Amino acid sequence: MKAFIAGVTGQDGFYLSKLLKEKGYEVYGLVRRTAQTKDIPDVEIIPGDITDPGLVNIIEDINPDEIYNLAAMSFVWESFKVPKTTFDINAIGTLHCLEGARKTGARFYQASTSELFGASPPPQNEKTPFYPRSPYGVSKLAAYWLTVNYRDSYDLFACNGILFNHESPRRGIEFVTQKISSYVAQIYLDLRVVDLDPKDAIKLPLGNLDAIHDWGHAEDFVDGMWRMLQQDDPGDYVLATGKGHTIKGLLDVAFSHIGISDWTPYVEIDPKFYRPTEVNALIGDATKAKEIGWEPKHSFESMIREMIDAKIQPNN
Ligand code: NDP
Ligand code: GDP
Repeated sequence: MKAFIAGVTGQDGFYLSKLLKEKGYEVYGLVRRTAQTKDIPDVEIIPGDITDPGLVNIIEDINPDEIYNLAAMSFVWESFKVPKTTFDINAIGTLHCLEGARKTGARFYQASTSELFGASPPPQNEKTPFYPRSPYGVSKLAAYWLTVNYRDSYDLFACNGILFNHESPRRGIEFVTQKISSYVAQIYLDLRVVDLDPKDAIKLPLGNLDAIHDWGHAEDFVDGMWRMLQQDDPGDYVLATGKGHTIKGLLDVAFSHIGISDWTPYVEIDPKFYRPTEVNALIGDATKAKEIGWEPKHSFESMIREMIDAKIQPNN
């Protein structure tokens, strides 16, 4: 089997290419000229950019059995600053991948997101109305419907994975789980060499601490992506743990891992990290995915501890 992954240098690209290599796939990964490729698994690197229509020819030349579109401008906060770029990559880029799937007949996976639900109250599943709350969410909604439309129009085996937040030690530093884990690891390392008074610590600037998210582990979620493409019929699936946590709850878990029960002296609110429109509560219902054998294995607590430990001992 041959798989083509757009977004192979990202968090999910790492875990998915590892999984597919273990399953014996030949993996081809689309890589931008500026990307860091040094530690991605053994994949055939294909230079290119998802915003360029030349992607269709690239896909035709490879003639893959499966296409996974993970490429995105994936940071919600930044999408308010660069909405046009967000649309070019997330919506037009998806169109190029779908054209590639149409030309080759490859099965297609689209990285859709719980951000599609936005203001719709939890629990959210495949039948919940969409109400995105950011340029990121709206661009991903266009990509979602393009995927459905290509499935309906051209009888393509095309699936949307509507994934709730998923994290890992490979998560980008700008995301709140990694931002907190990195900070907590640094506090732990500092406390080993100096008797740091909490009130003298450089504070961690954060935005809205009350938003509720359903955070799973990327390693579990890539297994769900692969499963969707192995079914008899194409469909759309929510992947989520079903458990919601606030940012305050995340801070509790992270700081208690290094023996600190009161994190308030270490954190300050910086309105810069607020969003013009926020998603207040995302908690997914993954009943449909469980029917195809998907089950998350990592807990939220163990994942946050893993992320902190990876920063404390980066080589382990
Ligand atoms: P990352 O931000 O870690 O990875 C994004 C990938 O897209 C990188 O490989 C990046 O390449 C690539 N990319 C961006 N722009 C282009 C472009 N113009 N041409 C080619 N490649 C490009 O995201 P994740 O791995 O966390 O997420 C994977 C997908 O799943 C994304 O589409 C994301 O929106 C979606 N998603 C993620 C969730 C999560 O919680 N992680 C939740 C729901 C959906 P480069 O290295 O060059 O920047
Ligand atoms: P997202 O769900 O893809 O937007 O992932 P993020 O990790 O960027 O944000 C998750 C939640 O954390 C959102 O509700 C943010 O508003 C909230 N949050 C609070 N403070 C911060 C911060 O300093 N950085 C980020 N990235 N998010 C924050």
